[in-house]
Amino acid sequence: MKALVYRGQEGLVMEEVDDPQPAPGEVLMKVRYCGICGSDVHLFAMGIFFLGTTPGHEVSAEVLSVGPDVSGWQPGDRVVVKHRNCGQCEYCLAGRPQLCLQPEGFGRGIRRGAFAELLVSHHSTLLRVPPGLDMAHAALAEPLAVAVHAANVSGIEAGQAAVVTGAGPIGLLIIDVLRDRGVQPIIVSEPVERRRALAAKLGPDHVVDPSTANLADLVRSETDLGAHVVFECTGVPEAANAALGFLRPAGTMLVVGHSEKSYTLSSLMVMARELRIEGVFGSGGQFPAALDLLAAGKIHCQDIITRIAPLAETEAWLRELNDAPSDGKVLIDPWAA
Ligand SMILES: [Zn+2]
Ligand SMILES: [Zn+2]
Repeated sequence: MKALVYRGQEGLVMEEVDDPQPAPGEVLMKVRYCGICGSDVHLFAMGIFFLGTTPGHEVSAEVLSVGPDVSGWQPGDRVVVKHRNCGQCEYCLAGRPQLCLQPEGFGRGIRRGAFAELLVSHHSTLLRVPPGLDMAHAALAEPLAVAVHAANVSGIEAGQAAVVTGAGPIGLLIIDVLRDRGVQPIIVSEPVERRRALAAKLGPDHVVDPSTANLADLVRSETDLGAHVVFECTGVPEAANAALGFLRPAGTMLVVGHSEKSYTLSSLMVMARELRIEGVFGSGGQFPAALDLLAAGKIHCQDIITRIAPLAETEAWLRELNDAPSDGKVLIDPWAA
């Protein structure tokens, strides 16, 4: 099969590799779509993929065959695939599989990911795609699960105010999740014009350019005491520093995005206003909730997915999304010419 393989200086090289065979407990799948994740963009830009990695973990796929000791899955079944966790460590037992102490993810070096024509994975990592759901839209299940997880961790409720900084794919999906939960107002900050236009299609209350608008003033005029939650989806130091100023006392800043740059925060602000700063990582076990939202038509998939590209264009998109991000979600179709 064709697969992209990380070869250091040479980048992501399209190679002909042996078709994977399902071991006991595993399922062989044909990849339908695989989204480019912000983490793929960063790991590639920083040159820190393990050599030999095939990235890609935001996948929808079709079952081709099953290995020994697999029941419940048939050829033709439509699935999405999550990372495997041990199910036995203290974090798994506490319902936090994203913090598993013995994780076995795919697309990060240990197991081949889905920027390839075929994928094998353990049967326990598969979830069924609801009937009628478009397979391109189903490929949003993983990043949407991240957005659901972020909303859950934040504790935000209907009628409370949120600021979303950064309208990349995760920011866009968070906007849809918050709207579905009746969060109001939702104020979105995004410096790139095309991404502001994408965000506006999802119907938040305000979409502003932080380089020209005074976001702090807007938040103050739209909320009595400030936002209950800021979903910081950029990891950009200026955005994160500003975010604390939008919060009401006892508000929460959720660290959803990351970049290679560190930022400093005012200990006085955090202390005196009892602010909460919390990270969210991965899908937090929220794939089923994400699939439900997709099946119910609650997500603006057509707007959020801005491009479907062939495997050969993956590296170019990784560079573009790092250097001048203006798209929403870019999906790779490994079978497209
Ligand atoms: Zn991802
Ligand atoms: Zn575990």
